[in-house]
Amino acid sequence: MQEEPVRRNHPKDRIGRVVVHYAMEEEAAGLARRLELGPPTPLHEGLPARLRSGRVGSIEVIQCTHGTDPSHGVDRIGLETACLTAWALMTSQEVDLYVNAGTCGGFGARGAGIGSGYLASRFLYHDHRVPLPGFREQGEARIEATRRPVLEELLGLEAGPVSSGSSLDATEHELEFFERERVVAKDMEATAIAAVAMDLRTPFMALKTVTDLVDHPEPSHQQFLRNLESSCGLLTDRVEALVRYVGRGVTLEHLGDHPTPG
Ligand code: SAH
Repeated sequence: MQEEPVRRNHPKDRIGRVVVHYAMEEEAAGLARRLELGPPTPLHEGLPARLRSGRVGSIEVIQCTHGTDPSHGVDRIGLETACLTAWALMTSQEVDLYVNAGTCGGFGARGAGIGSGYLASRFLYHDHRVPLPGFREQGEARIEATRRPVLEELLGLEAGPVSSGSSLDATEHELEFFERERVVAKDMEATAIAAVAMDLRTPFMALKTVTDLVDHPEPSHQQFLRNLESSCGLLTDRVEALVRYVGRGVTLEHLGDHPTPG
């Protein structure tokens, strides 16, 4: 028997529920304070991921974080957790707009500085190397994002390709990939979430803020630690502006979504 499909908001309906998915607590804490979100509750039995929710104007905002890895005592970052968390969330409730917000590596060669912000225009993986016909392309994902000119203008953000992988540093091969693909943001979650959103036909966007420059001689992890707090402040400003705008009562169509056939 066919399962009931999860009901999706029609693009002409007002957005009712927005999820903001962060990997790290430090990225998320500022928004929870500013929006006075409720206390964290578990997303699913056995997973450390947490949800906090509240209302902003006409919308419900659910903030999700990956939570603390019980074995290692640090945020459970990365693709596997991103994918699992997105799946658990999107299949357990109706989500009108799903936002991945987080920090990223940027590229001086593309005009980035610490704190620069981007909206994803395309999603790639840079470390899934499978030199076989078809599988190479699958490994690189190449998911096209819905372009959102209204939000690019509102938030003053540039749009560009985001590439995800499982490491904070980058190999020579990956640096070549970033140049070839003109990647503007390197992270460890966005493409995995975009793939789930595509399968489940959930309107999606990724908003990234630069903590470190990939094409700078100083290692990313040193830059990351020094800039995390200031970049998270800017990320919070941008996500707050986004949810307050959506909370004034806008439709998905206004944000760039179109009805999907079938
Ligand atoms: N070392 C950090 C752990 C965070 S790792 C710590 O001690 O707190 C990086 C996290 O920030 C990931 O969730 C990733 O999405 C993002 N990120 C920021 N800069 C990145 C970069 N240059 N490459 C990959 N991910 C990056």
